[in-house]
Amino acid sequence: KKFIEVKDLQKTYDNGHQAIKSVSFSVNKGDLVCLLGPSGCGKTTTLNMIAGLLAPTGGDILVEGKSMIHVEPKDRNIGYVFQNYALYPHMTVLQNVMFPLTVGKGKKSKNEAKKIAKRYMQLTHIEELADQKPGKLSGGQQQRVAIARALVQEPKILLMDEPLSNLDARLRLKIREEIRALVKEVGITTLFVTHDQEEALSIGDRIILFNEGTVQQNDTGDNLYLEP
Ligand code: ADP
Ligand code: ADP
Repeated sequence: KKFIEVKDLQKTYDNGHQAIKSVSFSVNKGDLVCLLGPSGCGKTTTLNMIAGLLAPTGGDILVEGKSMIHVEPKDRNIGYVFQNYALYPHMTVLQNVMFPLTVGKGKKSKNEAKKIAKRYMQLTHIEELADQKPGKLSGGQQQRVAIARALVQEPKILLMDEPLSNLDARLRLKIREEIRALVKEVGITTLFVTHDQEEALSIGDRIILFNEGTVQQNDTGDNLYLEP
């Protein structure tokens, strides 16, 4: 049974721009799937609709067979790592990572939240940065904080939008290996958006190739046909 099913998803923005014409794909539990394609082909729009931050104008998104369309973002059990990390600048690293556990329905006690946060900070190698503010950190360190914060509620699905694009080339290689190892260790089903072929080939179990608001190919890296 498919874990995520995206069926004939469509999005026309209020200004009339048809960003997603029709997108269908499914994702198996535990897979790391890359959404690959050039800037403007609709990758972020698709991710935002899966997260519930943007309402589709057509189609459906099912998780474990249940439609998400009318489910609030906070009830979707999805972790999202944004391209610019979106860390809270006035909070320390520990406070950033704890934050999702200190608000909303499933709110934990402060001590419990701290304990869980520290576990994920260990997994992402940022324990020693606990008391720093994000502004003092390197891009790679901020990235790890964003990932820890996205994982701390133990979501069923992890969405990552160009998570490496603000890093230098060497760090990109290192962090993408770390991301793959981490999501496999945690076992979380992950959608990873990138415009970089090589990145998608190296990290993805499967690659969904987007083109102008449609899916052009959906295959393993080995079987994908790529323009030279
Ligand atoms: P990608 O993530 O692949 O770069 P996006 O999903 O960000 O693509 O954008 C897809 C298309 O939709 C682009 O042409 C973009 O300019 C357009 N777009 C994105 N957001 C909006 C918006 N709020 N209103 C109108 N058009 C938008
Ligand atoms: P990405 O880098 O993910 O493709 P962009 O940098 O294209 O995103 O877009 C940044 C923000 O601007 C997003 O919130 C997007 O919705 C909005 N946006 C992008 N294109 C347009 C557009 N043509 N009209 C209105 N808003 C847009």
